[in-house]
Amino acid sequence: MDVLVVGAGVAGMLSAIELQQRGCSVRLLDAGVARQPASWAGGGILSPLFPWRYPDAMTPLTLNARRDYGLWRDRILVAGGADPELLDGGMLVLEPGDDEQALLWAGRHDVRLEQISAARHMPWLADRPALWLPEIARIRNPRLLKGLERLRQRAGIELVRDQAVSIEQDFAGVRVLTSSGVVQAADKLLLTAGAWTAGLLPLPLRQSIFPVRGQMLLYRPTVPFPDTVLLSPAGYLIPRADGLLLAGSTVEPGIDDSIPTEQAWAQLKQMAEQLWPALQGVTPVAQWAGIRPGANRPLPLIGELPGSEGHIWINSGHFRNGLVCAPASAALVADLVCGLEPGMDPAPYSVSGSSSSPP
Ligand SMILES: Cc1cc2nc3c(=O)[nH]c(=O)nc-3n(C[C@H](O)[C@H](O)[C@H](O)COP(=O)(O)OP(=O)(O)OC[C@H]3O[C@@H](n4cnc5c(N)ncnc54)[C@H](O)[C@@H]3O)c2cc1C
Repeated sequence: MDVLVVGAGVAGMLSAIELQQRGCSVRLLDAGVARQPASWAGGGILSPLFPWRYPDAMTPLTLNARRDYGLWRDRILVAGGADPELLDGGMLVLEPGDDEQALLWAGRHDVRLEQISAARHMPWLADRPALWLPEIARIRNPRLLKGLERLRQRAGIELVRDQAVSIEQDFAGVRVLTSSGVVQAADKLLLTAGAWTAGLLPLPLRQSIFPVRGQMLLYRPTVPFPDTVLLSPAGYLIPRADGLLLAGSTVEPGIDDSIPTEQAWAQLKQMAEQLWPALQGVTPVAQWAGIRPGANRPLPLIGELPGSEGHIWINSGHFRNGLVCAPASAALVADLVCGLEPGMDPAPYSVSGSSSSPP
C-alpha cells in the first residue's frame, strides 16, 4: 500500500516511520520553511499540563511517552544522530487548586503524585503547596526532530518539499495538488499538517482544527535551575541539560503567524521572574513563536475522514500535547490505516466524533 503523509512535524515523521514498519510504501510531503512546525517551537514536557483536567482518554495517549521516547532516542543514537536529551526530573505543579481531582486521576491511572511543599525542590518557593509528579520527563524537541529526520533518511522514506493545496479522491485512491502544480497520487493519504490541516479538510470539518500561537522565551541563567519542570497556573519553566531555561508560553487562539511580539516578551518575563526571582535582571537570549494545532474538543483527531472510504486519514489537533502524544498517536493511526487491530480503543479520537462547531 502506497501512503502519502502530508506534514513532517513530529506527528508526520513518527507516523511515516510507523507506517513503513507495517509494510507500507511511504512518502512525506512538507511545506518547509514557509510553515515552521510547532514541533520545533514546543517545550518538550512529556505530560499534558494539569493532566487530570482532560478526559480520561487523554491518558492512554500520554502515559507511556517516556518509555516510547526512550526507544526512539535509542534508535536515533544507533543511527548516529545527536542525543535528543530525554531527561527525567519530574514536574512540580505549584498551587493548582484542584488537588482532589489530581489525586483521583493519579489513583485511576496508577500515576505517582504527591502533595508536598514546593520548597522541597525549590527552596525559594518557601511553604507554598504543590503537587509533585516524579515520573514526568522532558525532551529537547528541536534535537528530536533532527534525529527523526536522520531516521527518515536511513529508512529511505522520500521527503518532497512542496505544499499540498487541494485533495481529490476517487475509487482508486487520492491525488494531492501542490503549490508547484505537481500532482502526488497515492492509495491512501494521511494528514499530519498541524494547524494547517484544517485548510485541507472538507468544509464541515474545517473548524475542527485551528491555529493557536504560542510564544516562548529562552534564558541563560547565571545560577543553575533545579533539574525539574516547574508548572504554575501562569506558565512554566523547563530546564535543558546545558543550563538553558525555557519560559512559556502564551496561548493566542486564531493567530497563525509565528512572529514574536513585545507584549509576549513582557508577559513571559514577568511570569518567569515571579516563578524564579533569580531571573530578575537576566535578559532572555531568544524569543520565538509556534503555531499549535488547536482542536474544538479536548482530544486530538485520529482516524478516518468520514466518507473517504478508507482513503483519507487524520492525525492532528493535538493542541498543547502534540509532543507527548506523538508516539502513541502515530502507532494508533498507522494500525488504523493498515487495517490492523490497534493497541488502544480508537473511538474517543475518531474524526466522525468531532463536531463542526467552534469551541
Ligand atoms: C510554545 C509551544 C510550547 C509547546 N510545548 C509543548 C510541550 O511541552 N509538550 C507537548 O507535548 N506539546 C507542546 N506543544 C505542542 C506541540 O508542539 C504541537 O502539538 C505539536 O508539535 C504538533 O505537531 P504536528 O506534527 O501535528 O504539527 P507541526 O509540528 O506544526 O508540523 C506540521 C508540518 O506540516 C507542514 N505543513 C503544513 N501545511 C502543509 C501543507 N499544506 N502541505 C505540506 N506540508 C504542510 C508544516 O510545514 C509542518 O512541517 C507546544 C507548542 C508550542 C507552540
